[in-house]
Amino acid sequence: MKRDTRIIHAGRSKQYTGNVVNPPVVRASTIVFDTFAQLKHASLNRANRVAFYGRRGTNTHFALQQAICELEGGAGCALYPCGAAAISGALLAFLKSGDHLLMVDSTYEPSRSLADKVLAGLGIETTYYDPHIGAGIASLIKPNTKVIFLESPGSLTFEMQDIPAICAVAKRHNVVTILDNTWASPILCQPFTLGVDVSVQSATKYIVGHSDVMLGTASANEQHWPQLREHSYLLGYCASADDAYTALRGLRTLAVRLRQHEQSSLTVAGWLTQRPEVETVLHPALASHPGHSLFKRDFTGSNGLFAFVLKQANQAQIEAFIEGMSHFKMGFSWGGYESLITATMDVQQLRTATAWPYSGPLIRLHIGLEDVDDLITDLAAAFSRL
Ligand SMILES: *Cc1c(COP(=O)(O)O)cnc(C)c1O
Repeated sequence: MKRDTRIIHAGRSKQYTGNVVNPPVVRASTIVFDTFAQLKHASLNRANRVAFYGRRGTNTHFALQQAICELEGGAGCALYPCGAAAISGALLAFLKSGDHLLMVDSTYEPSRSLADKVLAGLGIETTYYDPHIGAGIASLIKPNTKVIFLESPGSLTFEMQDIPAICAVAKRHNVVTILDNTWASPILCQPFTLGVDVSVQSATKYIVGHSDVMLGTASANEQHWPQLREHSYLLGYCASADDAYTALRGLRTLAVRLRQHEQSSLTVAGWLTQRPEVETVLHPALASHPGHSLFKRDFTGSNGLFAFVLKQANQAQIEAFIEGMSHFKMGFSWGGYESLITATMDVQQLRTATAWPYSGPLIRLHIGLEDVDDLITDLAAAFSRL
């Protein structure tokens, strides 16, 4: 089956859907059993998608977990109330007091704050590393290093990481690799074939795809799935059946939506490279991007999220630029059907291991499903205001 066809079938086994197209929303805390034998059977198989207790999930959750595994390639998938919970759940499953964590310097800012504020308080030390380090990560591994946390591309600054090179070093040192794979969604990158142990998704973004649900997933290979599953369960992470249903509904159109996001995003990115006000466009699918060869090797496509750096602009100019937009709404998150814009005046203050090479402000765009001509008209007007 090709990818688009797999998306249509993923997780829709009869066992979960019955005789309707979509798995029904099964809300439950208590599951009741007719016989003691059934109760025992559920208890013994509670980790294997047999309904046992609400926190372990119902058929609605199982269908989504199965779908994510089929698409992303993991042996098992845990659900979380949001992407940030999936990140904390995955990290806490493999780290304990006295351990050392390597985290990429270009990571999503809340992941970094989690390490600095929460993990540090638990006695877990973090070292940030250059996203371009590749196999050189070996020099940062200490006897107590237990996890390497990757994100590629970085979702603000879009550096590409050499995922297979880092994972190969990690395996030699018995270190668990966790990848924030949200940018790729479950279909643009196959993390487990690149050697990753655990892959995290903020399903809030492209999986849900309509800016109306918070949800996270963490999937693991055969070796790491039991520990991820049990630790996440014991920490009490779970998600609502309604949100799992909404994510499954979003998933069905993921490939079609991404193709349009990608096409419009490349059109806008190409247009921006011609603008005299623009210092650089940070989009890994452009041949000019420093990580383009890694992108071509490890990814099957791109999406609607990228950034560009202005040559110079002060606060007032940035306000004029982003406050007057007609289609690009100002706000965080991304992956919905609508276009978004944010600005970061000082990228350097978000990193400690690497020097940010640009002095102008960074503007991040999410290119939505509007007609791309309208989006370019909107941006052209913004450059006039600037
Ligand atoms: C949004 C985001 C998250 C966090 O997901 P939430 O669902 O908002 O908690 C994590 N990583 C990346 C790359 C994100 O963009």
